Amino acid sequence: KAKQLGRNCYYLFDSEESSAQDLRQQLVQQVFRSLYQDEFELFYQPKVNMKTGQVLGAEALIRWHHPERGLLLPHEFLPQLQGDSLLIELEEWVLQTGIQQLSTWHQQGLNLSLSINISGQYLQESSFVEKLDGLLRQHADLPPEKLELEILENSALENISNAGDIIKRCRRMGVGFSLDDFGTGYSSLTHLKRLPADAIKIDCSFVAEIMDDPDNLAIVEGIIGLATAFRLKTVAEGVEEIEQGMMLLHLGCNIAQGFAIANPMPAVDIPDWIAHYNPPKAWRSATANPIP
Ligand code: C2E
Ligand code: MG
Ligand code: MG
Ligand code: MG
Repeated sequence: KAKQLGRNCYYLFDSEESSAQDLRQQLVQQVFRSLYQDEFELFYQPKVNMKTGQVLGAEALIRWHHPERGLLLPHEFLPQLQGDSLLIELEEWVLQTGIQQLSTWHQQGLNLSLSINISGQYLQESSFVEKLDGLLRQHADLPPEKLELEILENSALENISNAGDIIKRCRRMGVGFSLDDFGTGYSSLTHLKRLPADAIKIDCSFVAEIMDDPDNLAIVEGIIGLATAFRLKTVAEGVEEIEQGMMLLHLGCNIAQGFAIANPMPAVDIPDWIAHYNPPKAWRSATANPIP
């Protein structure tokens, strides 16, 4: 119907609709900032190179200090926000807070990188690239290469070629991308081809069973092989035991996160943790030969 009204009317109709949407988003933003913002906190989990013992950076993980229910983990509230514009506000806060924190660490002389989780919904918001660009400009002292965005391969990537384009634009700005929880979603191979990432994160469900379940060992081996073929880095998550790290090193995955290294912690604890981090000797002396 809008088309029949002619070009000008069509545009008028379009912009009225989008300004109504802007208004709604502004309201949501004000509600979030005035009521909820202070209840959220980012925890940071260190990411290390097991081979060298070097602390490479951290992943930001959101926590909600709920006034009645106490500390809530992401799975207790993020799924409920799926499809809601409040999720966009929350993720914008995460991006802003994470980049601010990374910049603070750099000013303190800590040359860390930071991984931030982004939902498919937020990545595909029309203003996402501009927002990211704006934040990086506000922190011009910070090399964009130090920021990495993690997207769930099973996150509602409605339009995969659109998502691929957004990732390309971000990468041109210098920002890195990893495919999170790799292997747990569907059509992993299509995602590898269509989403230009720098790294694959091996899901903790595979890492957890790597010593006991030959199938999981085969999956991890396969993922590392794929990553190598696509010239991507691999990062193992959920490394809880030294032996799991040994096995990953033998298979060619050097970068890891997990309770064997550190739990997620408040930002203020990171500098002290780094200063006192003592990498397991066994990891440094691990050889890259497959375990018989
Ligand atoms: P993820 O990105 O795969 O993050 C890794 C999860 O594994 C984190 O759970 C972390 O606390 C947990 N973990 C770390 N080491 C170990 C370990 O050794 N063993 C085990 N079993 N688990 C370990 P968390 O913090 O509950 O986060 C869960 C998920 O929620 C994240 O999974 C991520 O997908 C999502 N998430 C977290 N923060 C954000 C955020 O700010 N934005 C968005 N969009 N998603 C987020
Ligand atoms: Mg992640
Ligand atoms: Mg993950
Ligand atoms: Mg995971």
